[in-house]
Amino acid sequence: MQKKISLKLLPSQLASEETIKEQIALAAGIKKSDINGYNIQKKSIDARGQTVFILVSLTAYINEPLQKELSPQFQFKNVAKASKSVIIIGAGPTGLFTALKLLENGIQPIILERGKDVRSRRRDLAILNKEGIVNPESNYCFGEGGAGTYSDGKLYTRSSKRGNIKRILDLFIFFGAPANIGYDAHPHIGTNKLPQIITAMRECILAHGGKFIFDKKLTGFTIHNQYITSVKTADADEFTANAYVLATGHSARDIFKLLHNQNILIEAKPFALGVRVEHPQALIDSIQYHCTTRDPFLPPASYALVNQVNERGVFSFCMCPGGIMAPASTDVGELVVNGWSPSKRNNPYANSGMVVQFSKEDAFNWINKNHQQKVQTSLNDPLLFMHFQQAVEKQCYQAGGGHFVAPAQRMVDFTKRKVSETLPSNSYLPGLHACALHEVLPDFINNSLLESFNCFGKKMKGYFTNEAIVVATESRTSSPVRIPRNRETGTHPQIKNLYPAGEGAGYAGGIVSAAMDGERIAESICTILGHS
Ligand SMILES: Cc1cc2nc3c(=O)[nH]c(=O)nc-3n(C[C@H](O)[C@H](O)[C@H](O)COP(=O)(O)OP(=O)(O)OC[C@H]3O[C@@H](n4cnc5c(N)ncnc54)[C@H](O)[C@@H]3O)c2cc1C
Repeated sequence: MQKKISLKLLPSQLASEETIKEQIALAAGIKKSDINGYNIQKKSIDARGQTVFILVSLTAYINEPLQKELSPQFQFKNVAKASKSVIIIGAGPTGLFTALKLLENGIQPIILERGKDVRSRRRDLAILNKEGIVNPESNYCFGEGGAGTYSDGKLYTRSSKRGNIKRILDLFIFFGAPANIGYDAHPHIGTNKLPQIITAMRECILAHGGKFIFDKKLTGFTIHNQYITSVKTADADEFTANAYVLATGHSARDIFKLLHNQNILIEAKPFALGVRVEHPQALIDSIQYHCTTRDPFLPPASYALVNQVNERGVFSFCMCPGGIMAPASTDVGELVVNGWSPSKRNNPYANSGMVVQFSKEDAFNWINKNHQQKVQTSLNDPLLFMHFQQAVEKQCYQAGGGHFVAPAQRMVDFTKRKVSETLPSNSYLPGLHACALHEVLPDFINNSLLESFNCFGKKMKGYFTNEAIVVATESRTSSPVRIPRNRETGTHPQIKNLYPAGEGAGYAGGIVSAAMDGERIAESICTILGHS
């Protein structure tokens, strides 16, 4: 007999198979010796009460042999001689999952990626962290695997209506991710494991006749009668296919400018910007798990915080327990901080983005008043938020003093507008420089953060502390631009074979939603090309 059972366990109980069996026996009213095994379906942490529990849903095999869950299987066609091909610009999660879905349907994907393969990319990240030199084509955002590769690899999303999350997780498992991402409530892979998974995806695409070309930066479209007839790359190469998927991510400013200059419709997209906040992980553990020292059977704790200040949303984003703050800039003289964690999440720090939503008027007025960073823009400019984002990043770079040293302040000092005398030890490798962030960031960002830190301190006792540091700026939470597309066909309203996709086009926010969007666009293409 198979029986579905829900258990509420202490963290240490989950570590022992025998104890789990005892608990199953207790819950089902049977003898432990009748249980041949179990498969976990869902696992989450309940830290609401003083004692922290792990909630587990599982299927127990009682007096019948255990059937181990089969690893997910996928079939890809060989497309080397396929009659239809699709050019995918960008090898982030959107581009990769578009390619895999096309392979399943017998269409040849040709991926053009401006950056390097995932392994070579690592060297550029080391130079950025150690020497403060950014390669504009190969960094935390650009290169094989996209922005998600050297990240935390958190794989949860709220976009469950947008696609089949299970299928995306199964594909990750198929390409080498650990099986627990299939049942953890907050699955994550870790920066150290993602590159091998991305490599396995590329090898699969190549083995089935797809093409993958690195150091190929898209720089132009040739358009005739509302159809792209070819795309050009920076090295004057030209490529042609039946359809073109634009999956270039939120940081490809040259693409946004290119579309705008070629009179291809784009729109300003609501945007949020702020800071990274870093606490000692032990402090976050003690707050979230109500303890002095974390139970060794519990993972490092995380948090999610939201607040509303004068109709502006303020929210934490991309929380990285046991993580590292990283310079995620894509260009010289612009400072962006983001965060990632290794699979074990075993660094002594906990960081998260803390960002503030704002309006076009806020952005426009700040740009206009800020003479140092003056740029030509208007309230109707689709690139308004992009210009704002870039201007703040430049201001932060200057405030840090160069080489991606980031301007920072202790949290309580930040709220008192006082330059910190010292900064605590931290995870940011290029280094921090103590300065007055209210002189660097726009007032509406500072004021909203200031009020919110106080408020979060009340929600999470101990959060509001001078042990925490506030680091500027977290400006790449989403795309500042939307590239419109037809709801049914997925095509751009003016260009019938251009498919804007993923985060850069404004249809995703994170690895899983980007992957799902890639699949959705591939399905539209398959329908239109008669391959569904
Ligand atoms: C440090 C960091 C940590 C993150 N952590 C997480 C996390 O834990 N969980 C999560 O869900 N999300 C995380 N994110 C966000 C996540 O990475 C993105 O949401 C996701 O990668 C978006 O996928 P995408 O394919 O749409 O775009 P991207 O991943 O940005 O990929 C776009 C690709 O296009 C390429 N490209 C750009 N312009 C051109 C051009 N002109 N020609 C050719 N190629 C081009 C780029 O090089 C890039 O490879 C993180 C991001 C960063 C930077």
